[in-house]
Amino acid sequence: MDLSYTPAEERFRDELRAWLDAHQPGAAPQALAEWVAYGKRWQRALYEAGWCGVHWPREYGGRGASLVEQIIFQEEMARAGTPQLINLAGLTMGGPVLIAHGTEAQKRRHLQAILAADEIWCQGFSEPNAGSDLAALKTRAVLDGDSFVVTGQKVWTSFARYADWCMLLVRTDPQAPKHKGITFLLVDMHSPGVTVRPLRQITGEEDFNEVFFEDVRVPRANVIGALNGGWDIAIATLMHERQTLTFSRQLQSRVALNRLLALARRYPRGRPAAAEPRLRQKLAAAYIDSEAMRYTALRNLTRVLRGGTPGPEGSIEKLFWSEMYQRMLDTAVEMTGPFAQLVADSAGAVENGLWPHLMLYSRGRTIAAGSSEIQRNIIAERVLGLPRAK
Ligand SMILES: Cc1cc2nc3c(=O)[nH]c(=O)nc-3n(C[C@H](O)[C@H](O)[C@H](O)COP(=O)(O)OP(=O)(O)OC[C@H]3O[C@@H](n4cnc5c(N)ncnc54)[C@H](O)[C@@H]3O)c2cc1C
Repeated sequence: MDLSYTPAEERFRDELRAWLDAHQPGAAPQALAEWVAYGKRWQRALYEAGWCGVHWPREYGGRGASLVEQIIFQEEMARAGTPQLINLAGLTMGGPVLIAHGTEAQKRRHLQAILAADEIWCQGFSEPNAGSDLAALKTRAVLDGDSFVVTGQKVWTSFARYADWCMLLVRTDPQAPKHKGITFLLVDMHSPGVTVRPLRQITGEEDFNEVFFEDVRVPRANVIGALNGGWDIAIATLMHERQTLTFSRQLQSRVALNRLLALARRYPRGRPAAAEPRLRQKLAAAYIDSEAMRYTALRNLTRVLRGGTPGPEGSIEKLFWSEMYQRMLDTAVEMTGPFAQLVADSAGAVENGLWPHLMLYSRGRTIAAGSSEIQRNIIAERVLGLPRAK
């Protein structure tokens, strides 16, 4: 693993850092519609300045730079504390999967629109009876002339309410073994027959949705990969999600940890919280976890740089990060004690409800993109080569 950067990579970082310092988007609005418009404006500004899709091919609107520069982009975004890009599913899953498996027409149709946030994407995989056992999915697509007719229900579809396109897994051959009869379809969320109903989370936000499909017509040209060959594409998508998304999230969680350490030095618990032995131990453990995570992520990155694609090793990153992040936020809430339940206190130490909000939101991190139990199974079977779980 080479941890140094070339002069060209350092120049890229300096240029980006200067741009980010000069173009901070300001505080995000609370109301959903305004927040979406704000997120789209921010991503478009990045795209127009050439920072979005750093590693994507130039012919589809990307910068054509290396994966290392893409990582520098993520590091600098985390350092600057900028909002995350709104088209997360498109950038971290849809785009990479289209680049690898899409037709030329699909790439031309979608990639640039993903980068510029002209069209927002969501991921329609999970169903009420198909989460960990994703291949049990029942949403049906029946070919009728040049289009499919889609019927069924998805659930936990993040941000579906303002999405324009959905990466939908559908059953196209009910007679085939369950992994062999699935197709990966791109569905226009504005099609007649699509209904989205928001679900409220423990944080009070409504990121999640149920999505219902009633006789929705989808052109046959919207299949990604082969008909009935969707399972392999779904697995490739999940590996991108586990690895690429976790890489940027571990950078963001390091920023949160630095903020927590700064707070611990001044937070009053008779003496500063950082001087209290038990909390001190927990904060040190959080720092050690964060460093271990960083090197694990860099080791996986080295493997990808040497020609690999995201593989089952991404499950190690996803598992370790999601659990260490929860431990760190539990410590934050323990440290701020009863004040953690307030939105703000007079000393500003509660930081506008930041810690309880992050702590509550983090509960979903050990479930999304495959629960911790499922990641442990993947690591056992596909990384360590242990016998399959019964
Ligand atoms: C924040 C968040 C965002 C999400 N966004 C999306 C999205 O955009 N699109 C989408 O399609 N889905 C999304 N999901 C859904 C997510 O993929 C599922 O919740 C997840 O796959 C688990 O499925 P489930 O909820 O049906 O739980 P189940 O599969 O019913 O699991 C219930 C429990 O049983 C355990 N379990 C199940 N099978 C096994 C096994 N074989 N061995 C050991 N333990 C097992 C699980 O670990 C879990 O503890 C999101 C979820 C969260 C939390």
